[in-house]
Amino acid sequence: MSFAALERLVGRDQVLTGAAALLPFESDGLTHFRARPRAVVLPGTTEQVAAVVRWCVETGTPFVPRGAGTGLSGGALPCATGVVIELARLNRILEVRARDRVARVQCGVVNAELSAALRPLGLHYAPDPSSQTACTLGGNVAENSGGPHTMKYGTTTDHILGLKVVLPDGEISELGGPLAGRPGLDLVGHFVGSEGTFGIATELWVRLTPNPAVVRTFLFAFADLDAACRMVSRIVADGILPAALEMLDRQTIQVVEASVLRAGYPTDAEAVLLVELDGSAPQVDDDARRVRAIGADAGAFETREATSAEERLKLWKGRKGAFGALGRLSPDLYVQDAVVPRSKLPEILRQVRQIATEERIRLSNVFHAGDGNLHPNISYDGRDHDEVARVVRAGDRILKACLAVGGSLSGEHGIGMEKRDSMALLFAPADLDVFARVRHAWNPLGLCNPDKVLPGTKVCVEFRPGVTIEGVTH
Ligand SMILES: Cc1cc2nc3c(=O)[nH]c(=O)nc-3n(C[C@H](O)[C@H](O)[C@H](O)COP(=O)(O)OP(=O)(O)OC[C@H]3O[C@@H](n4cnc5c(N)ncnc54)[C@H](O)[C@@H]3O)c2cc1C
Repeated sequence: MSFAALERLVGRDQVLTGAAALLPFESDGLTHFRARPRAVVLPGTTEQVAAVVRWCVETGTPFVPRGAGTGLSGGALPCATGVVIELARLNRILEVRARDRVARVQCGVVNAELSAALRPLGLHYAPDPSSQTACTLGGNVAENSGGPHTMKYGTTTDHILGLKVVLPDGEISELGGPLAGRPGLDLVGHFVGSEGTFGIATELWVRLTPNPAVVRTFLFAFADLDAACRMVSRIVADGILPAALEMLDRQTIQVVEASVLRAGYPTDAEAVLLVELDGSAPQVDDDARRVRAIGADAGAFETREATSAEERLKLWKGRKGAFGALGRLSPDLYVQDAVVPRSKLPEILRQVRQIATEERIRLSNVFHAGDGNLHPNISYDGRDHDEVARVVRAGDRILKACLAVGGSLSGEHGIGMEKRDSMALLFAPADLDVFARVRHAWNPLGLCNPDKVLPGTKVCVEFRPGVTIEGVTH
């Protein structure tokens, strides 16, 4: 296939071909799926994105949008017969309307860079995935990403007012806008969370959030994971709404403390619970008093409050960098993502540990406890095919255990390639049919990020390397 036409559309340097140049694009953060695209195209404007998509339509070429490739469900996994449209060059903050608390940004802006730019205005962009120093706002839109502060502030969908999108036929369309009111169908709501299968968002109108007057961050250390879970339930039952409630288990604490991300977590703890409170001073003081009392009652053997911005940052650095720190244990990491009712946390964590023992895998937990959003992390070596098979089987068993206690397939990482065949465990055929018809309305030719999210299609075939699980080669 010649890419001369694509080079004319975006410039010669902005079309990558050849094994070495394509290597970094063969997977996202879910590295046990890999495929080499025919080319990676890096458009620099919405019009160029549209022109590239029209070229794909004219040539019948499947295309996969990509931001920073930090996704953990294989959403940006390339199609071996297609091209990747890499959006990192669309990285400008176009407009900030501080008084209206909205901003217009390009899709390739890195999440944390938006909040950093807003700091002098006393504002921030609330959704804060732990990958926020790398992931893009376009990727966040596609995955409806959450983060530690989701508990109080909601996920990406609560912060997106409008989108400029390149539809899968190459037409440019504006959905919503800077105003909160949206008469008619909520197409922005449809698009957010569509995992790159409804088109490419090139510009976003985002809602901005005022920085809270007071923020207080606490660490509670427990000798028992169940007791830490009970504290989570008690806080919620008492009507307190923390900004964040995050849990790390013993294995995670040990790895973080042995790394450069050392946060000062007690290494003899079975669990550490981070509780952040924010708002007005009287409200936060009252909540802090009650949270401390609940911690003592639940059996915390240590309670610590960050006394400076630096200490607070350090506590969060350990939590947000935990996945990175786990890189010390093995060459590969599989981050599972599922949701259970909060009250089921102790029971499911026991089951997760049991599965890990039975499958002989190395597992650690760090998760958004306030949302019941689990992240069992499995450290493994992708070169060991037997271990990969056990890891995938353990992931599958964990997912089924979560569903059995009334949980869901994903809290924030999406379905992507990883869980598309598990969708039938949660949804009836009639539900899946409705999803497929909605997607067909947006993406009738099926060229935009094929094979993802919904079971059934097999447009892109080749995944490498090889253990075969239920007919799909991982
Ligand atoms: C260390 C680590 C921590 C993480 N923590 C969190 C967390 O706390 N919360 C959370 O929700 N996620 C988390 N993630 C997962 C990941 O960072 C998010 O899913 C993020 O939103 C992906 O953004 P990205 O720019 O990397 O997107 P990519 O991985 O490049 O793509 C993700 C999906 O979005 C699509 N896409 C990308 N850009 C666009 C666009 N402009 N228009 C349409 N579709 C597009 C792709 O096709 C793909 O389906 C974490 C990942 C890592 C590695």
